[in-house]
Amino acid sequence: MVELQLRSRDVADERVLAAMERVPRELFVPDSLRDRAYDDAALPIGGGQTISQPYMVARICEALALRGDERVLDVGSGSGYQAAVLAELAAEVDTIERMPELAELARANLLAAGYDRVRVHTGDGSRGLSERAPFDAIAVAAAAPELPQTLYEQLEPRGRLVVPVGRRGIQRLEVITRSPEGPAVIRSVPCRFVPLVGEEGF
Ligand code: SAH
Repeated sequence: MVELQLRSRDVADERVLAAMERVPRELFVPDSLRDRAYDDAALPIGGGQTISQPYMVARICEALALRGDERVLDVGSGSGYQAAVLAELAAEVDTIERMPELAELARANLLAAGYDRVRVHTGDGSRGLSERAPFDAIAVAAAAPELPQTLYEQLEPRGRLVVPVGRRGIQRLEVITRSPEGPAVIRSVPCRFVPLVGEEGF
């Protein structure tokens, strides 16, 4: 997976590649799909949701440019996989999921894989997680119609937010840095994520 799907497609951050080598993805997919855990694809996890394609997880992590001492918010826990990779890259990870049964799934998967430091919350992550803000980095694994303002406001100065922005079905991964002049936005790769459903989502 790391060589064929990530390195060959220009994921260059060695910390991200090493983190993705360490996290056992098979522990985050349903038992019936275990033999496809390292496919180059998103896979169903229940509730009409998916565990993201490994390449997109790597892109998001790389765009956050983590060094190890950050506090990170992961919006859209799903299987918990992205949160586990982030836990390899940063000091503290909070993850929030709107569907209670998926929050429970993420909690169980993270525990089984040994990531008991990750805090799993249930609620509308389109409004962030005010009781734990501000964050050095925020990763969103669901598509927003526009930049979610509250998430931006929960960033530390120079903090980074990575979020797919666009229409249902097709988006672009946006990398937003908080700066005194306002959001500095870089548009990255095209992508297709499930919708962010909530007050500042669809
Ligand atoms: N990071 C996950 C990807 C899951 S797909 C993984 O690695 O498996 C995106 C997830 O975002 C879904 O589980 C969906 O239920 C959740 N989601 C959608 N809108 C949300 C919102 N407003 N707040 C929190 N989670 C949300």
